[in-house]
Amino acid sequence: MADGVRRKLRILFAASEVKPFSKSGGLGDVAGSLPRALKHAGAKIAVISPKYGSIPQEYVDQMKHVTDFYVPLSWRSVYCGIEKLTYQGLDFYFIDNEAYFKRDALYGYFDDGERFAFFAKAICESISKVEELECDVLHCNDWQTAMAPVFLREFYMQIPACAHVKTIFSVHNVLFQGQYSDKVLNDILGLADVPSARDQLYCAPQAINYMKGALLYSDLISTVSPTYANELQMPFYGEGMDGIFRRRAGSLSGILNGIDTVEWNPATDEFLPANYDAKDLSGKAECKRALQEEFGLRQDPERPLVCMVGRLTKQKGLDLVRYSMNALMARGVQVAILGTGDKDYEDSFKYFDWKYGDMMSARIAFDGALSHRMYAGADLFLMPSEFEPCGLTQMIAMRYGTLPVVRETGGLRDSVQPYNQFTGEGTGFSFANMNADEMAGCLLNACEVFWTNQEAWKQLQLQAMAEDFSWRRAADEYLDLYHSLHPDVIRYNKRAD
Ligand code: ADP
Repeated sequence: MADGVRRKLRILFAASEVKPFSKSGGLGDVAGSLPRALKHAGAKIAVISPKYGSIPQEYVDQMKHVTDFYVPLSWRSVYCGIEKLTYQGLDFYFIDNEAYFKRDALYGYFDDGERFAFFAKAICESISKVEELECDVLHCNDWQTAMAPVFLREFYMQIPACAHVKTIFSVHNVLFQGQYSDKVLNDILGLADVPSARDQLYCAPQAINYMKGALLYSDLISTVSPTYANELQMPFYGEGMDGIFRRRAGSLSGILNGIDTVEWNPATDEFLPANYDAKDLSGKAECKRALQEEFGLRQDPERPLVCMVGRLTKQKGLDLVRYSMNALMARGVQVAILGTGDKDYEDSFKYFDWKYGDMMSARIAFDGALSHRMYAGADLFLMPSEFEPCGLTQMIAMRYGTLPVVRETGGLRDSVQPYNQFTGEGTGFSFANMNADEMAGCLLNACEVFWTNQEAWKQLQLQAMAEDFSWRRAADEYLDLYHSLHPDVIRYNKRAD
């Protein structure tokens, strides 16, 4: 260590979605914010992601063509353009192949296994061919990038630019693993003749699992909260991968995500009808009134307004919400939901919207601006998730003085401190079990505080708003991980800003 060189580690951050260019969920937020924080913390970082057809034209117009080459993908030789955009001081590289990526949505196509195997291979080719993409650490995220550590080890170790590259794989949601029939092994991955890869990629007799490959091939594994890192090692949460997580527990860390505190700031948020901060919360009352009006809810400051924003899937605990809806309505609680997802949930929330008129409203849409107004206008933010690797929305809600009601799992457990009625401590409310009555009880307890103890309520709001959810801490922890992979490089500086 004493003989090490002091320099910035070069990190290539690979993700299938990056805000503001592409986003379907929390991964896009993370990939849009964490690299910037890493740069501030003292890394030399570039981000690589697909050039989707849905990237807004204003960004496409600013992209510069760096180079192009052909990527070997089993028997194919596939065109790959590299486009670069420097945005807010950070270098973003886009993998260009219109046949794979010029489509309306990011995922959900018949050939996703091929599209993202190509993306992973293109990342490796880029490291080997494009000087400005050479790196010390390749940081991959979720199954769409999972084959990159596998390809790197199996095909690229002889290439000087790749030989020293270490890999870290971050699990943002273990539910999505990239599983395909074993035909892909030969036809797409070109790994049928590589026994080590074949053995490690199989997850069932005829199934290939991309994420399993990354979990076994990467030098380090991380996930997005300490509690989820523990949960992944349990059968209930591990989705069949728990044995691997237990085996690799020594290489597994949990680092709680942050949020973009500039974008999510009630004092400056341009989407709000009124701004506010911890010193003066009066703007929040106007946000609530305007939100009730926008949703067609009764404009009554005395009614607790409970909001939910997110994907309408089973993971989010929506069965509990459906089950409790009648009871909540009977107690005079207002509910507003924004989300898209499984038709079954979309339909049931539309039904409640119809049934309960000015007490319940559901917007089946993806609407960023409206989400801002909901975080600000709500009193409570409900997240009864079955599992939640980190969850960003509860942190955003707290920043807006909206108290989260969460199940104690994953990042919800790590970011929300439950209300203690004796000491007044807390930043929200929580319950332990996947049980609808327990959830409703917890939510109604929160409403009880809202109705009967405005002083304690305000104190909780201020405590929630005072929490530091910036990316600083997480960036420092990631940088420590990267440096542990290159002990010969001394950390450049603790922090430049
Ligand atoms: P997940 O990654 O499981 O989808 P997160 O809580 O980590 O959940 O992140 C969800 C992100 O997507 C948040 O920024 C949230 O505001 C946003 N989001 C989800 N659904 C919608 C929607 N229907 N409209 C607007 N924003 C949404």
